Amino acid sequence: MAQGNIVDAGDVLIVGAGLAGLFTALKLAPRPVTVLAGAPIGDGASSAWAQGGIAAAIEAGDTAESHAADTIAAGAGTVDEEAALSIAREAAIRIEDLLRLGVPFDRDIEGKLAVGREAAHSHRRIVHVKGDQAGKAIMQALVAAVRATPSIRVMEGLSAYELAIENGRAAGVFARPAHAATAPQPLLIKARAVVLASGGVGQLFAV
Ligand SMILES: Cc1cc2nc3c(=O)[nH]c(=O)nc-3n(C[C@H](O)[C@H](O)[C@H](O)COP(=O)(O)OP(=O)(O)OC[C@H]3O[C@@H](n4cnc5c(N)ncnc54)[C@H](O)[C@@H]3O)c2cc1C
Repeated sequence: MAQGNIVDAGDVLIVGAGLAGLFTALKLAPRPVTVLAGAPIGDGASSAWAQGGIAAAIEAGDTAESHAADTIAAGAGTVDEEAALSIAREAAIRIEDLLRLGVPFDRDIEGKLAVGREAAHSHRRIVHVKGDQAGKAIMQALVAAVRATPSIRVMEGLSAYELAIENGRAAGVFARPAHAATAPQPLLIKARAVVLASGGVGQLFAV
């Protein structure tokens, strides 16, 4: 691979600025991180489109084990059970993180988080923001927090197209302007650790 410009991103490079990438960057603060995004942060991410809300076992009598069991049953053989349980166990704590970041989840008349029962869930466990605006509100809160966090450097408008490998380990990524078809002068962004948070598995397929 021909090398053009080289940028040293330091410790951690996060590829992607959706909910996963921005949340990871905030969790790592004050450790310096660089977030690379194909679009300005807040744009170009599925996260802002999420409308239905987030599931978490927060209602009295509900448990993470029940949440995981519902998930495994609904997945009909496609769910990694250990992953489902681990995610269900963290869900309530992550909702608290988002509340601390200012996400205005809907409340009931007593001021408690309002939870809805939907789809295959056996308990009321979906939190929303103004009905259908959870993704938009979460992204607004995360973008504001990231912009206000000095340890997070954001590189926008750059698309990673290949991992840089040194001694069998990821040592960064090669990137180019997001809307360029070719890269006459490749940009190598080096880092000691690379986090891929570039969205869903759909990106693995050309069609
Ligand atoms: C219409 C809609 C409704 C949804 N509703 C819900 C819901 O109600 N509840 C729910 O839990 N989930 C819902 N989802 C799913 C949810 O939005 C996603 O699972 C979640 O947002 C994924 O977050 P992410 O950070 O992994 O990816 P994304 O938010 O997609 O972010 C990916 C980031 O990676 C960047 N990127 C991608 N490729 C590159 C590259 N090569 N180089 C540099 N940057 C790159 C993008 O620019 C973007 O910043 C919905 C999704 C959609 C589209």
